[in-house]
Amino acid sequence: MILKKIEDALNEQINAEMWSAYLYLSMSLHFEHEGRPGISNWFRIQFQEEQAHALALMDYLNARDGKVVLQPIAGVPDAWASPKEAFLATLEHEQKVTSLIHNLYAMAEEEKDFATRQKLNTFVAEQVEEEDNVRQIIDDLTLIGNDGTGLYQIDQKLGTRTYVAPQL
Ligand code: MG
Repeated sequence: MILKKIEDALNEQINAEMWSAYLYLSMSLHFEHEGRPGISNWFRIQFQEEQAHALALMDYLNARDGKVVLQPIAGVPDAWASPKEAFLATLEHEQKVTSLIHNLYAMAEEEKDFATRQKLNTFVAEQVEEEDNVRQIIDDLTLIGNDGTGLYQIDQKLGTRTYVAPQL
C-alpha cells in the first residue's frame, strides 16, 4: 500500500503531465494554423510524450495499489507571438515540471518510499533531456533571428521528428 500523502502527490503530478500535454497540443494547433507544419509536428509529438508520462505514473500508482483520481485540466493559452516565444514558454514550463519532480523525489526519500524514488529516477533523467532539446531549438531560433529562410529550414527539420515512446 502506498502512503496517502504520496498517492495525492502522484495524482497531482499526473494532472501536471496532462496539463503539459494540453499545452503542447494547443501549441501544435496554433502553429498548424500559422502555416508552420514542422513546428506543429514537433509539438504534436511533445503532446504524445506528455500523455506517456501521465500514463506511466497512472500505471505505477495502480501497481502500488493506489487510486488514480483524474482532476479537471486547467485551460491553456492559445496563441504565441512567434516560434521562439512558444519554445521559451516550453522551457520555462519544463523547468517548473523538473522542480515538481524533484519535490516529489525528495518527499519519497523523506517518507522512505524507495519504490517511488526509484520510479522517479527515469523522470529525473527525462527532464534533463526535455530541457536540453528545447534549449537547442531556442539556440537555433536565436541564431536565425528574423531570417525567413532560416525559419523555413528549422520548420523542415522539426517536421522530421517522429514519436518514440519514452522508456519509463
Ligand atoms: Mg512530462
